[in-house]
Amino acid sequence: MNEPFTHAVPILHTLHQNGYQAYFVGGAVRDVLMGREIGDIDIATDATPDAVESLFDHTIDVGKEHGTVIVIHDGVSYEVTTFRSESEYEDFRRPKEVQFISSLKEDLFRRDLTINAIAMDVNGEIIDHVGGKKDIQRKRIQTVGDPACRFQEDALRMMRAVRFISQLGFQLSDATADAMKKDKHLLANISVERKKIEMEKLLKGRYYEQAIRILIETKLYEELPCLSKYGLNEQLQTFPFYLLDGLEEVWGAFIHLLGLHEKEAVSFLKEWKLSTKLLKEAIAISKYVDCNWNAEKMFEAGESVLLSSLKVTQLKHERRIFFDELEAAKRSYDALPIKNLQDLALSGKDLMAIRQKKAGKWIAEELDFVKKAVLQNRLENRKEAIEEWLIACDQ
Ligand code: ATP
Ligand code: MG
Repeated sequence: MNEPFTHAVPILHTLHQNGYQAYFVGGAVRDVLMGREIGDIDIATDATPDAVESLFDHTIDVGKEHGTVIVIHDGVSYEVTTFRSESEYEDFRRPKEVQFISSLKEDLFRRDLTINAIAMDVNGEIIDHVGGKKDIQRKRIQTVGDPACRFQEDALRMMRAVRFISQLGFQLSDATADAMKKDKHLLANISVERKKIEMEKLLKGRYYEQAIRILIETKLYEELPCLSKYGLNEQLQTFPFYLLDGLEEVWGAFIHLLGLHEKEAVSFLKEWKLSTKLLKEAIAISKYVDCNWNAEKMFEAGESVLLSSLKVTQLKHERRIFFDELEAAKRSYDALPIKNLQDLALSGKDLMAIRQKKAGKWIAEELDFVKKAVLQNRLENRKEAIEEWLIACDQ
């Protein structure tokens, strides 16, 4: 067993010593079998959330009613979830009532996809009741059990299936694809917040092009905010989002490629329920794609928007990132004589003193005039120099 798992072994030991079962489950087991980098490690146990809390010193309640407690061990967080069955569902969304159970097998059966329903014990032995390993070998995405039933229970699983296609490059099984086509409308019952999480992972997947094709073939995209209105154009379908870094870049590229103007872009991102901060950053990035940069524009955009929109521009035209060009842009930005108005050697107060005039709109206008001259290197950013220049301009 490799490092991230061995670090969590003491948690399993503590549970065992107290008479409980405990296994590694979910994404981390799938990823280790695939030889991929392992993300968060999830643990499943028959201990109830209360029992888990009582056995460990550092725990966080993140949804005890659904069975999950975070255990912090040696600085690392682990989600420890009680075995459960999810029999009854309320309006296709969340399990109406979670039943804690003592059978690992049953817990694995309630999981979404076969590749996500594999467990591993403390000795590294694999427990696979649903053919998950075989599906990993065959690169196949299918639900545990009848897809139509599983999508009725929780329609988000359709999005999750496509998201894993994007991350892993797997194929959808025919039965799962057929159920998706029939049941796509159920996605309307799912909150935008849950859909957004899957959409962002889908956009950043290495096999995004494959995934977006499935979204189109199954018409699932019609159930996603605003996408049926704008459609998914060719450029959007082939854009290598995975080469971008932050979500602000991903959404910035998305609205740019959709061809939305600012007002439309704002309402699009609001429909997707982005935070105000992320929304503003995405709008700014989108605005500067294909920009003809000069000192004033760099000043206006700021360093991070400059670099992000340059990346989007490169990917749009060349499908790759030119790091030397980014370095050069960063150097040009660093060389700007001022980075914001506070850096200007002359303040609004100084201006009022020179002009012997009361505050008013004129200050911003005149500072802008000075700022331009400084940025264009026509004027030195030194108080006396600016004062002399202003007097000379008056004559
Ligand atoms: P990631 O690497 O992105 O974290 P993951 O497979 O760990 O992928 P999570 O969203 O963290 O995905 O969920 C953890 C596990 O919980 C899944 O592997 C799956 O077994 C189960 N699961 C998550 N969401 C659902 C769902 N909607 N229905 C059924 N089981 C689910
Ligand atoms: Mg996970």
